[in-house]
Amino acid sequence: AIVFEDIEKSFGSLKVLQGISGSIQRGEVLAVIGSSGCGKSTLLRCFNRLEKINKGRLVVNEIDLSHPLLSQKQLRRLRTQVGMVFQQFNLFPHLSVLENLMLAPRQVLGKSRQEADEQARFYLQKVGLAEKAEVYPEQLSGGQKQRVAIARSLCMNPQIMLFDEPTSALDPELVGEVLQVMQQLAQEGMTMVVVTHEMQFAREVAHRVIFMERGRVAEAGTAPEVLTQPKSDRLRAFLNRMS
Ligand code: ATP
Ligand code: MG
Repeated sequence: AIVFEDIEKSFGSLKVLQGISGSIQRGEVLAVIGSSGCGKSTLLRCFNRLEKINKGRLVVNEIDLSHPLLSQKQLRRLRTQVGMVFQQFNLFPHLSVLENLMLAPRQVLGKSRQEADEQARFYLQKVGLAEKAEVYPEQLSGGQKQRVAIARSLCMNPQIMLFDEPTSALDPELVGEVLQVMQQLAQEGMTMVVVTHEMQFAREVAHRVIFMERGRVAEAGTAPEVLTQPKSDRLRAFLNRMS
């Protein structure tokens, strides 16, 4: 679970998050929507401490990220418990798909070669790429690369998955296969925060949605509330632009 209360984040004099609150329960999918530059990625990056908050309270899986004395041990625990998938896939080009998936479990979790191998193949199968274990990333389509990136994250056995516009760098015909993997993950009960422009996906998969504007939550609620009964004109206009 994630709880955030009144969190603030600035870059120099630029206030990017200006007192933003919300929560995600275990097994819940939260979609974060809003115009470019409103702070979606920054919020997500705070959840796994790629960014440090300036103010407010942030607790991720019972790890208090607002505590001034966050230990290295807690930080490591956070990083293994929270997986993140980005717009660009960040696969290691000189490693095969299987090696990409085995690296962190071996180096960070200390798994044996055999254990890491079995798990990597299990998750490759899950994202529909069992036959791609031995190939190199450059031999994959964008959609396949992103599915490998998701599988690689899952190999760390995360309890929470963060997705930052995982389909926005893909050709339109490849978006569906990635969303399908994410939908399956949601159905299996993974706790997920998804920054997305895919409104249909948000409608069908998210339990709750927050609409951000200039570093604040402008509207929040269940997916039907936010996406089909917007209260503000600005959210209505945003949804019209997206559809
Ligand atoms: P997009 O939809 O385009 O991805 P976003 O909602 O994810 O936008 P952020 O990436 O969170 O927006 O950025 C919010 C604001 O913070 C922007 O004005 C951006 O330029 C600024 N910003 C983000 N990261 C940094 C940084 N490391 N240093 C300085 N400014 C930053
Ligand atoms: Mg972003």
